[in-house]
Amino acid sequence: SPPLLLDLRSRRQIANTGIFVSPLGFGASPLGNEFGDINEQDGIDAVLEAVKQGINFFDVSPYYGRTRAETVLGKALRQLPRESFVISTKVGRYDKQSFDFSAQRVTRSVEESMQRLGVDYIDIIQCHDIEFVELDMIITETLPALLALKKAGKVRAIGITGYPLEIFPYILAATEPGTVDVVLSYCNYCLQNDRLSLLFAALRKAGVSVINASPLCMGLLTPSGGPDWHPADVETKAAARAAAAFCEERDVDLPTVAMQFALQTDEHEVTTTLVGIDSVNTLQKNIKVASSTPDVSLLKGVKAIFDPVRNRRWTSGKFIG
Ligand code: NAD
Repeated sequence: SPPLLLDLRSRRQIANTGIFVSPLGFGASPLGNEFGDINEQDGIDAVLEAVKQGINFFDVSPYYGRTRAETVLGKALRQLPRESFVISTKVGRYDKQSFDFSAQRVTRSVEESMQRLGVDYIDIIQCHDIEFVELDMIITETLPALLALKKAGKVRAIGITGYPLEIFPYILAATEPGTVDVVLSYCNYCLQNDRLSLLFAALRKAGVSVINASPLCMGLLTPSGGPDWHPADVETKAAARAAAAFCEERDVDLPTVAMQFALQTDEHEVTTTLVGIDSVNTLQKNIKVASSTPDVSLLKGVKAIFDPVRNRRWTSGKFIG
């Protein structure tokens, strides 16, 4: 039989934290209806099935569905032994334009998340979309508050998330080694944009793990082209439509090719890849990719369609793309 692209039951360590995650993780933002309304039970079933299939890593945030995603995920996690999953949630972002990274708010936020999720510690706590606030506040106030929670045993690892890649070296240069265990980058390592690879060597050297989120570029690399709020420009959206048509003519689907691309990363570069899951059906599709054999010439053809818009970015927070 052909070699597996990924063994879902293998585990990789987040920095040197003793936290071991599956190489493919379950992105739970769809459980908050971020990509359209879903049936709650479908979401719960998908979580339980994911664990059965070997996935142990779940990422969520109080922001997704304005606490709904955490609540739905919590209903599923309550049915599982605590050691069977690794949970990552976030602090600081609570609405589209509502951010509060103060020590007091993030400390309370962790307690609220633990209640919704039904757990008494969080494995990975991340500062959510830090480009929207002054980065120096993250350094002087938020991270020290999270370190205090780590000392108290309420969180096991600390991360930062956001879209502009500049935020990661900025924070890492200004903090003691071991403060930030992991960075979560999204839409920066997919068929259209692979700029995250520019940071792989430095992050590895710093001993910081990488979570690559949104390998389907938040739905852009699916036949629907993603949600109405998708921030890509018109040319990038047109390239994605052309890529979907190119795949359809060859009887494959674009998400399969996009996932194959993302899952080919070296484990020393990307610790785990997080794809958004809304149902057992979507889960099974992505699990199937993990045991597929990528078609090199097809991948080349699809990538070429994105060449005119390669590495184009959008503005996020205080950073101009
Ligand atoms: P994604 O690129 O994973 O795309 C998700 C969309 O694609 C959903 O609509 C999903 O139902 C659909 N989909 C998934 N697999 C599919 C398949 N095989 N075929 C067709 N459609 C498929 O985007 P995402 O959900 O934004 O990213 C994954 C996760 O990463 C999120 O759920 C979240 O947990 C995390 N994330 C975090 C941040 C942050 O912290 N700032 C940002 C983005 C994503």
